[in-house]
Amino acid sequence: MPASATDYLARLNPEQRAAVETVDGPLLVLAGAGTGKTRVLTTRFAHILMTRRAFPSQVLAVTFTNKAAREMRERVSAILGQPAEGLWLGTFHALCARMLRRHAELVGLSSNFTILDTDDQMRLLKQVMEAAGIDQKRWPPQGLMTVIQRWKDRGCTPARITPAEDSDFANNRARSLYAAYQERLKQVNATDFGDLMLHVVEILREHPDVLADYHRRFRYILVDEYQDTNLVQYLWLRLLAQREDPASRNICCVGDDDQSIYSWRGAEIENILRFEKDFPGATIVRLESNYRSTTPILGAASGLIARNSGRLGKTLRPGREDARGEKVRVVSLWDSEEEARMVGGRIEAARRDGHNLAEIAILVRTGSQTRAFEERLITLGIPYRVVGGLKFYERAEIRDAMAYLRVLNQPADDLAFERIVNTPKRGLGDTALRAMHQLARAEGVPLLVAADRMTALGALRPKPRQALRELLEGFARWREGLEREGHVVVAATLLDESGYTEMWRQDKSPEAPGRLENLKELIRALGEFETLAGFLEHVSLVMESDQAPEAERVSLMTLHAAKGLEFDTVFLPGWEEGLFPHQRSLDESGDKGLEEERRLAYVGITRARKCCVISHAANRRLYANWSSAIPSRFLDELPPEHVEQEGGARAERARMVSAPSVFSGQFPLVARKPRIIEAGAWEVAERPAKNAAIPPGSRVFHTKFGYGRVVSAEDNKLDVEFDKAGRKRVLDSFVEKA
Ligand code: ATP
Ligand code: MG
Repeated sequence: MPASATDYLARLNPEQRAAVETVDGPLLVLAGAGTGKTRVLTTRFAHILMTRRAFPSQVLAVTFTNKAAREMRERVSAILGQPAEGLWLGTFHALCARMLRRHAELVGLSSNFTILDTDDQMRLLKQVMEAAGIDQKRWPPQGLMTVIQRWKDRGCTPARITPAEDSDFANNRARSLYAAYQERLKQVNATDFGDLMLHVVEILREHPDVLADYHRRFRYILVDEYQDTNLVQYLWLRLLAQREDPASRNICCVGDDDQSIYSWRGAEIENILRFEKDFPGATIVRLESNYRSTTPILGAASGLIARNSGRLGKTLRPGREDARGEKVRVVSLWDSEEEARMVGGRIEAARRDGHNLAEIAILVRTGSQTRAFEERLITLGIPYRVVGGLKFYERAEIRDAMAYLRVLNQPADDLAFERIVNTPKRGLGDTALRAMHQLARAEGVPLLVAADRMTALGALRPKPRQALRELLEGFARWREGLEREGHVVVAATLLDESGYTEMWRQDKSPEAPGRLENLKELIRALGEFETLAGFLEHVSLVMESDQAPEAERVSLMTLHAAKGLEFDTVFLPGWEEGLFPHQRSLDESGDKGLEEERRLAYVGITRARKCCVISHAANRRLYANWSSAIPSRFLDELPPEHVEQEGGARAERARMVSAPSVFSGQFPLVARKPRIIEAGAWEVAERPAKNAAIPPGSRVFHTKFGYGRVVSAEDNKLDVEFDKAGRKRVLDSFVEKA
């Protein structure tokens, strides 16, 4: 036996050990963050195998992410002393996809079915609506998609929906459209994402022989992050766990009601309460020692979450031997740029002191917030990764918008033009695009010019021709506006008038609001630069500087993606009303949305082992305008004895000036001149005045090249000897005095 075989149980406290060793019968571990729920689950898995209660293929283990599945596999292998193979270990969807391949024919599919992405789903749904003669202007397909997804989250096939339960979409036709959509999916041998769970649950419900087979196979079921299961996932678990002999219903779920943060995806906290009812006699284990975080971090998190009502209620006490630690820091900053500098500066200092970058995370409320920190880290040459998403400038909507800006800046940029000429859809088919390319090649002109000639030649059908005309006229107009209105206003106008933002506004997928936020963030970023060309160059440098793979990187991610993870140091920026708690939750009636935001804050704080830095800025760039921000109510809810305030006086001043107009120009820090211009949906203001002349010899900081000393100055250009990047000629507007 490997050495670990004898001591893996010794690494648990008595309650954890009880949870691991109570292998038979239903078990629910209900415990706060960092109490070792995941460790219990992993150890239990290994224990079942070590004591030969089951073969690896007889245990079903569900994790919330693929990453968590990988980690669990590694840890089980480490305890076993050999690679664990043939496991049924993965996310709900991954496990269901595997099951569905085995029984596809039972729902009219063959085992090589394809899983459609959201675009294909939408296309199919539109076809179905068209065939049914539904007016898609009046009844947007996205609305129907949402209804269908909600049904799927609840395990409802079309046949299970009664007429009374029909949605009022298209005068109570949602149910029949749903049936037609499912039929169409079958014809093309495909499923959408929601079908993976739905079909498998249906098979288990309708085919007792298949279910019995799984009952024989899965002797043990293990579920992590149980608080975030939705109804169809719950039904699936219950079907698989309810074996005939109640004593052999070996399902173990671990969860924390305070960390339920996915109700917007149909997760139901009631599943925790239902567990005891569906599995009478279930053992409930509570774990109360937190091994992850120091006392102040725990105290801050516990004090915050105590404000929520309707909790199941748990005790959480420090279990680490070195639990004393430093207080949670709340840093108040003047503006969002200063906030990014603060975070970057502290990370740089930590690196200098020999800290591992992989132990540092920046957790944000919305994806668009990563941009400011990404740019800061790039400037400082600190490697980072964006977990669970793309880096800001790699996101599809940002690439599209950048392509528009590139054409605006440089009409001959064919690659960019190609990307946007039919995005949003302007009815240009492959033939039309090919003809455009041929014309461009034959005449040796840019694509945009070829497109212009084609509209004149009458080579296109009227509708795409009109759409293309509008786009080309648009570009002429926007380019002309650059001088007069400035690049920020024009960029915002362009995205509106070209129909690009509207495309995402029409999109009802769950990602669409995030994409719109990213676009706003792009306009904000543009506002930090004097010229469009300057900005485009900056972005290409940022993109290019993407470092080679490196093990040690800072992690950036949303709070949602951080569930279950832990880091020595956690930065939690942007704690401001409207940002966190997010405006959407504040707009909801009742406290439900706000309480979920508070749970999200609890998840955020409890990711930290030793150091937790929360920050808020008094001013945040809104589109291209500056607006004052009110500190998040969550800051006031942190117990003062666990918190150390930094920059308080400054924040007080910020608070005082933040009402009613922060732009009155009377306060000394930075002169900001507001000039709000209505430009479609965007609010745009003039850029605040920048530095006056910077004399040679000054120590400066450049957004891209970092610190350096000015060698000579001429007009608006400076020659700077940078500490890291060497001698460069730069625009003074990109530089500030250090
Ligand atoms: P979360 O709710 O955030 O998912 P969790 O309850 O799953 O947290 P784990 O991630 O399993 O908690 O454990 C938190 C940390 O405490 C991990 O680093 C783990 O290795 C450590 N830990 C757990 N139990 C013990 C123990 N008995 N002794 C020492 N360290 C422990
Ligand atoms: Mg966990």
